[in-house]
Amino acid sequence: MRSLPPIRNRLFCPGPTPVPAESSLAGLETTLYHRSSEFKAEVLQARKGLQPFFQSPEDPLILTSSGSGAMESAMVNLTGEGDPIIAINGGKFGERWTKLGQAYGCQVKEMRLTWGETVDLDALKTLIQETPGLKAVFVQANETSTGVAHPIQDIADLVHKESDALLVVDAVSALVAHHIPMTDWGIDCLLSGSQKGFGTPAGLAFIALSDRAWGRLSSRRRFYFDLDRERKGQESGTTAWTPATSLIRSLNVSLIKLNDIGVEACDQYHRTAAEACREASATWGLSLFSKSHHSQALTAVALPAEVDGVALLKHAKERYGAMFAGGQDQAKGKIVRIAHLGLFDMFDLLAGLTALEYTLKDFHVIEELGQGVAAAMTRLHQP
Ligand SMILES: *Cc1c(COP(=O)(O)O)cnc(C)c1O
Repeated sequence: MRSLPPIRNRLFCPGPTPVPAESSLAGLETTLYHRSSEFKAEVLQARKGLQPFFQSPEDPLILTSSGSGAMESAMVNLTGEGDPIIAINGGKFGERWTKLGQAYGCQVKEMRLTWGETVDLDALKTLIQETPGLKAVFVQANETSTGVAHPIQDIADLVHKESDALLVVDAVSALVAHHIPMTDWGIDCLLSGSQKGFGTPAGLAFIALSDRAWGRLSSRRRFYFDLDRERKGQESGTTAWTPATSLIRSLNVSLIKLNDIGVEACDQYHRTAAEACREASATWGLSLFSKSHHSQALTAVALPAEVDGVALLKHAKERYGAMFAGGQDQAKGKIVRIAHLGLFDMFDLLAGLTALEYTLKDFHVIEELGQGVAAAMTRLHQP
């Protein structure tokens, strides 16, 4: 018997994540005028729907850009030319903070980590003490390239104890999967994007500032990403530029679902999903790429050295319709990143793990079928 080729592709990448059909359909409405009262109400509704996931002092602002646009807006609004900043670089996304800081003429002190590791707080403390006039510290909540979740609460405590600097947190792949209460933890700028935890296609970014950060906007010239201008307009649902209207409609449908589940339950579910993936990996005899502080949004599994990871992922896609992300840069061909974030239920996860288990068998990494999936099923079973 020959089985059918995959009838549909399934996404197990850490962005974009699956979008519910209702959210996609809501985005098909194309007769929206972005200055109409109906559309302004949609903007206000989306800002309010995002707030529980940020727990920010004001409802987050919505930008029409990918997540990197929110990163750039944090850099241009909160730093000036020549300002000393610290960029924590634990992978591909941490490196983006370094590059952004350099592009905008900051004096960047980079704390470069070995991929798969997290911040050594003592080393960070020393670096802060050695940086007079430190303006801001930039970090990821989840370093998506390695599957590490940096200890944001500890970093926030340290930054505020040792300096007067602002703490900027890129939570593009973390929010929804991780509960990150911005105000309680003392985060000065928290940002995210639509295509990761929020179950919406790519193209929107979200950003919130603390009162302290609003009081310290830099005098740098800026135009598209002028947060003060956005703040004034978005109070009444008016974005500075023409927004991605269809995406905001989709976002509102996904946010209703996410808020029905609730922030705490989202955090709990993602924690369990990550545990299920780790148990499956251990059953397969594979180790994790993240050495500690494992993310709740994705699990980065290291492949045996003799396995060609690029070919393995190609096989998973072509044979089983399952799209996983591989490694970037130095991790290319060496890891599989299994995403489990967003509007992604346990049956989605089990389908992904099944496809991966078949693939591992086809590549002779494992001998027996069903054991990793059984471990995950057991972990996810909550009668
Ligand atoms: C996906 C992601 C981004 C944003 O990437 P875009 O391609 O610009 O949307 C930023 N930071 C992290 C940690 C991410 O995972």
